[in-house]
Amino acid sequence: MKPHFGKIISELRSSIGQKFIYTDNEKLEAYNFDGTDLRYWPDIVVEPENRGQVSQLMKIATKYRIPVIPRGAGTGVTGGALPVKGGIVLSLLRMNKILSIDEINMTAFVEPGVINLDLHHAVSEKGLYYPPDPASYDTSTIGGNIAEDAGGPHCFKYGTTRDYILGLEIVLSDGTIMNTGVQTRKGVVGYDLTNLIVGSEGTLAIVTKAILRLIPLPARTITLLAFFSDIQTLAGDACFQNDALDVLLAESSEKRENLWAVRRKFRDLIKERSQFKFSEDVTVPIRQIPQLIEGARKIAAKHEFQNYNYGHLGDGNVHVNFTHHHKDETIVRRSESVVRELFELTVKLGGTISGEHGIGITKMNFLEIELSKKSIELQKKIKQVFDPLNILNPFKIFPPE
Ligand SMILES: Cc1cc2nc3c(=O)[nH]c(=O)nc-3n(C[C@H](O)[C@H](O)[C@H](O)COP(=O)(O)OP(=O)(O)OC[C@H]3O[C@@H](n4cnc5c(N)ncnc54)[C@H](O)[C@@H]3O)c2cc1C
Repeated sequence: MKPHFGKIISELRSSIGQKFIYTDNEKLEAYNFDGTDLRYWPDIVVEPENRGQVSQLMKIATKYRIPVIPRGAGTGVTGGALPVKGGIVLSLLRMNKILSIDEINMTAFVEPGVINLDLHHAVSEKGLYYPPDPASYDTSTIGGNIAEDAGGPHCFKYGTTRDYILGLEIVLSDGTIMNTGVQTRKGVVGYDLTNLIVGSEGTLAIVTKAILRLIPLPARTITLLAFFSDIQTLAGDACFQNDALDVLLAESSEKRENLWAVRRKFRDLIKERSQFKFSEDVTVPIRQIPQLIEGARKIAAKHEFQNYNYGHLGDGNVHVNFTHHHKDETIVRRSESVVRELFELTVKLGGTISGEHGIGITKMNFLEIELSKKSIELQKKIKQVFDPLNILNPFKIFPPE
């Protein structure tokens, strides 16, 4: 433990409560990873159960200028929840209450540690529906989904997490608790701080409560599996009746679940077949998907990697996977050129380097491929306004100067 931490720990214990503060190895290890293969150890773990404790934590962190890294389930795949230079990991998993579900207003008030799937079950019992459904929906939290603006298969039709957040309760870096947004479907008072926090990867504020927009539960769900001869046909004006080689209909909820279970396994199946795998969630206008896939194949061939693509084609969001049967320093270095070339192609096609996984630490060196200098400068100023001491999830999104 760093020498000056003794004082910080005793202050945390006396103001937040002994049982919410951890420094033992077992606990620190449980928070040193996320959905990447990277490992960074925190110095302290805090697991609060209410916003007052989060606020106290930030006041102490401000006093000692110590980094605080908000964390949900740790399924993020760009390193957003990793304590890259140590500090305090703030786990929001204990704040996991669904506070209310209002059938008339069609809203839910939830704490950030609620698991996405638990929310789905709770609202569907009342005939309501919360569409955002990342493939990690049985583990990832609403707080993490908000911080990453997570999407999933249903987002093609219904939109991403952002489209279902009406308002937030947040704790700022100095410990101030404040509300953003509205409880209503409409609201245009002042700047849209809610939308600024959504997708900000825990770098601007800590979400301690969310007001979610719900919609009526769809009366019927039809799930089809269609086969096309090539991606060009699919990305064009594909007509199931005329262009699909075959179409399978999931005739029961069990069969539907089986289809989706196969889809959710893609990631692991690709990983199992190689020593080294990396993937990017680039997104292009749907008409450009064939060019993106063709380009990805060429990049893979040029650098001697294998390439597998799947994703949310209706959103233009392709999970471009590259694998190698071997992993060493040269291959890892070569993978950086692969990623850079893929991102350059994506932006050239009018796309974005991240459709849903965020920038975190794994993509920050590529930020300038998509954003202008002016845009990065402006965004850094926004970060400074929210977090002048740079203690809230620092060293994320923007590359070090
Ligand atoms: C198998 C698998 C499948 C996945 N599929 C998808 C998918 O289909 N779509 C998709 O979008 N993503 C997907 N992901 C990525 C990941 O699940 C999402 O980014 C998810 O939203 C992260 O939620 P989490 O609770 O695990 O957050 P964490 O990983 O713990 O944190 C992610 C980021 O959110 C911040 N954060 C967490 N909670 C808060 C809070 N309360 N306030 C402020 N900041 C906070 C953290 O600081 C960090 O920057 C997948 C990941 C895995 C491992």
